[in-house]
Amino acid sequence: MRAILASAILSVSLFSTACVAGQPGGAGDSVDWALDREQLLTDLRVLAADDMQGREVGTAGNARARAYIIDRLESMGVGPVGDGYEHGFTFEAPRSREKIDGVNILAVIEGTGDSERTMVVSAHFDHEGMRGDQIWNGADDNASGVASVLAIAEMFHAEPPEHDVIFAFVDAEERGLQGARAFVANPPIPIENITFNLNMDMVAMSSDRILWAVGTYHYPYLTPIVEDVATRASVSMPMGYDEPTTEPGGDWTNLTDSGAFHAAGIPFIYLGVDFHPHYHQPTDTYENMTLDFFQDASEAIADFARQSDANLQMIGEASGR
Ligand SMILES: [Zn+2]
Repeated sequence: MRAILASAILSVSLFSTACVAGQPGGAGDSVDWALDREQLLTDLRVLAADDMQGREVGTAGNARARAYIIDRLESMGVGPVGDGYEHGFTFEAPRSREKIDGVNILAVIEGTGDSERTMVVSAHFDHEGMRGDQIWNGADDNASGVASVLAIAEMFHAEPPEHDVIFAFVDAEERGLQGARAFVANPPIPIENITFNLNMDMVAMSSDRILWAVGTYHYPYLTPIVEDVATRASVSMPMGYDEPTTEPGGDWTNLTDSGAFHAAGIPFIYLGVDFHPHYHQPTDTYENMTLDFFQDASEAIADFARQSDANLQMIGEASGR
């Protein structure tokens, strides 16, 4: 059992209130999982620490981050996809044409049902590394998303989902979504069984407490899920930033790993904060995060993952997957 801590009351309101249509419900559906808000901060702090050296693909700091994520998965009892957690890939750097090796970390929790439909929950763990002596810690981008996905893994380990859930901690996002592209190009299960992608990128820094839900413009049948989770969330969850626009930075569809899933026709929701002064700066550090927002956003993210599982059949039927 995970520590219950002060979040017990919040967790009750999270899961015991009205559910969206399609929730399997049934007897014994009480949920005793609660987000471990302290562990969440520990994961963020460790992954954004200076000794991770900004987690740039192909570096020792990146390997240390992988070792930490794998250690967390092993300690909670969430096993790998296939023979091992690490799935290597190679990509070519755009300008230098240099071949670079990246490593995705893939874990899985099997669903209680017999559906083949699978949800992929993703977050990139790499960041920009170092420039000289200066470290780009990437606390918000994207130690925060990794920490929130680890929390989802703990939740589904405690309260198994109906459908199989693959946890994809992807590498080399900062080089053009390379890890996510490699995953989609060479998936560990038949691509047609991947029904939905829930992606987290930058979920720890928002002074006005806004967690954007991106993707409903492309997949409007996902709107009721966002609206449902938003009614329980203690952060704001508007929808947007997914319509074609000439405004720079106005369409986030292809700015993060869910873009690789979208390109393959896989419905997605990407949860993340707006651009902020620490974005892609060496000041993107643990100390500069809005930690209370991060914890509350992660409650909403866990709720979103639970509701996505409950609605996966609907998503599959609506999308023809
Ligand atoms: Zn980034």
